[in-house]
Amino acid sequence: MKLKINDFCRLQVFDVLSIIKLMLKKIQILILLIIIFVAFAFTFLYASFNFNFSPLKQVNDNFRPYFSESFFLRRTFKLNQSGEAKGDYYSNKQFTKLKVEVYSTSFGTIYAPSIDLINEGTGGAINKSEGIFVEEKKLEDVPEKVDDAFIDKLADDIPRYSKNTAIMRIYILSTYEPKPTLTGLTAGAYGFVIFKKSIEEASKDLSVQKDLEIETILHETGHLLGVKHLDSEGCVMNKIVDVPSTGRLNLIPTTYCFDDLQAIKDANS
Ligand SMILES: [Zn+2]
Repeated sequence: MKLKINDFCRLQVFDVLSIIKLMLKKIQILILLIIIFVAFAFTFLYASFNFNFSPLKQVNDNFRPYFSESFFLRRTFKLNQSGEAKGDYYSNKQFTKLKVEVYSTSFGTIYAPSIDLINEGTGGAINKSEGIFVEEKKLEDVPEKVDDAFIDKLADDIPRYSKNTAIMRIYILSTYEPKPTLTGLTAGAYGFVIFKKSIEEASKDLSVQKDLEIETILHETGHLLGVKHLDSEGCVMNKIVDVPSTGRLNLIPTTYCFDDLQAIKDANS
């Protein structure tokens, strides 16, 4: 039997259609496999970063530093430990501006010299080509004594950046219950606390209080920039900012020493 042209075309169309159908089915399976893989990888990494399973500790230790470099991955995997947002603050790579939100409470706000310090780049630690500016905000209903649960709650409220502007937060609270002499503490990767009452109780001298506040800001900013404590004496990053003994009140460092600046540089290289 002879095929007419019409029949021939019908046959061709039928073949093409069945090939497309088969391809679509394969693509569907491929997409499904990709979704399953991504979901598995996400769950595995999320668990490694956020839960304390010892078999996953290695994954956390090895991959966490790389993941925290990316703003997107930091958010996706809830990476929020002090120092993990260092890249947002130290350089101009991702963000050219810095907004520092100062949350005053019924316990007060920061002193004018502290605001000047922040505006000028916190003792040379922060460089932003389009500037640094302080925005004063209010935090209501803060208890006089706070514990870790309260600070964790502050830390969980991760700031929303706008385009080129990174945000750092400073909370002015009263006293840290577990250690009432502590003058400062980091609150996650994006902020820190100043314990106003602890500073005021360290000395009656206003200029000493101002210096202690500056030391606290430098110290906690150092932590947000990825620096751990140093052994170097007389340096801001030397030890946990605590109420110094009476003798040390005359020797409060209000600038970063060479070792502090070197440690900040090293942590960000
Ligand atoms: Zn410290």
